[in-house]
Amino acid sequence: MNYAWKDWIMAITETQVGEIPLVDLKAQFEPLRDEILSAIAGVLDGMHLFLGPQQRAFEEEFARYCGTAEAAGISNGTDALELALRALGIGEAISAAGATPTFVDVDPQTSTLDPALLEAAITPHTRAIIPVHLYGRPADMPAILAIARPRGIAVIEDACQAHGASIGEQRAGSMGDLACFSFYFSKNLGAYGEGGAVTTNDPALAERVRLFRDHGSRVRYEHEVIGRNARLDEIQAAILRIKLRHLDDWNVQRRAHAAALSAALAGTSLTLPAPSGAGVSQVFHLYVVRHPERDQLKASLAERGIGTGIHYPRPIHLQPAYASLGYAPGAFPVTERLAAEVLSLPMYAELADAQIERIAEAVRAFDAAGA
Ligand SMILES: *Cc1c(COP(=O)(O)O)cnc(C)c1O
Repeated sequence: MNYAWKDWIMAITETQVGEIPLVDLKAQFEPLRDEILSAIAGVLDGMHLFLGPQQRAFEEEFARYCGTAEAAGISNGTDALELALRALGIGEAISAAGATPTFVDVDPQTSTLDPALLEAAITPHTRAIIPVHLYGRPADMPAILAIARPRGIAVIEDACQAHGASIGEQRAGSMGDLACFSFYFSKNLGAYGEGGAVTTNDPALAERVRLFRDHGSRVRYEHEVIGRNARLDEIQAAILRIKLRHLDDWNVQRRAHAAALSAALAGTSLTLPAPSGAGVSQVFHLYVVRHPERDQLKASLAERGIGTGIHYPRPIHLQPAYASLGYAPGAFPVTERLAAEVLSLPMYAELADAQIERIAEAVRAFDAAGA
C-alpha cells in the first residue's frame, strides 16, 4: 500500500541543495551509518537470514516498547493486517463467505474513524473493526472499544503510522485485540527494505500469526494450516533494533517541530492540525494542513523549493479496486472533502528551525500573492 511512492522517491532523490524535502532519510542515516553497516555485516557473517536471533530480539524489544505481551515480526504492514485478520479466523471467512469491508467516515477534526458513525455501520456480520491511527494521531480507542466490546467484535489497530503514539499510559498497538505496524522506510520507525509487526496481549493470537507468517508450519516440512511467506528478515530486524533505541527521541523532535510549525503558521490561510485531546500523544508521522486551494498552494511551495505530499488524493471507497462495493461519490463526505484539501508539509526529526521558518515564509508569500 505505497500510496504515494512517487512522492517519496522524488523527496529522496531529486532534492536540490537548499530545498526542503518532505522527508529526509539521508539525514537520519548519517549519524547511524557505522552502527547500521556493522549490524548488517554481522548478520551476513552469521548467514542466519530469517527467523533468527535478530528477529527474536527485536520482537522482545518492540513488545516491551509497545507495552504488549507479544510482537511478531512480519514482512510488511499489509501482510501484518492480513495475518491479524487470519489469526482471528476472518481470513478463512473472506474466501469462504465472501466477507467485504465496510468503510466508515472520519471525524473532520482528527481525520480518524468517527465513533459516532461506527454503530450504524455495524451489522450482524461484522467481525472486526480496524481503526487507523492516521498521521500518527491515535483514533478514539476508548469510544471504539466501548462499542466493540459488548458486541464481541474484535478491534485491530492499524498503527502503521503511529509507532510510539499513546492515549494516557497506553501506547498505540496495546489497546486493541491485535495491532499492525509497518516499517516501510518512511515511517517513524523505518527499515531499509520491507518490514512490519503484529502486536497483541494474547499469546494464542500471537502463535497463530507466527504460524501463518511461515507457511503454516511450526515443525519443518509439516504444515498445519495454509499459511503465507510473510517473514521479517534478519537484516531488517537488526536495523530496526538500532533505530528503535532512537524512536522516542525522534518522536519528541517531531512533536516539537509540529508545535513550531503550528506557531509559525498561525494566522495564515491554512487549517492546521487540531490539537491533541487530553492525554493523547501524537507522533506526527505526517504534518497535514488543509487549504481549499490545495493544488495551487502545493505548486507555490514547490516553486520555493519546499517538498509536500498529498495523503491521500483519492479515498479508498472511490478507488477502482473497490468499485464492486458500489460506493458513489458523496458516500463519505468528510473523507472526500479532506482528500481535496489536505497537504503534508515537510516533517522529520532532523528538520531544522531555519527550515521551519522558510516553510512559514513560503506560506505567507502564497497568502500575500492570493490576497
Ligand atoms: C504504510 C501503511 C500501511 C501498509 O504498510 P506496508 O508496510 O507499506 O505494507 C497500512 N496502513 C497504513 C495506515 C499505513 O500507513
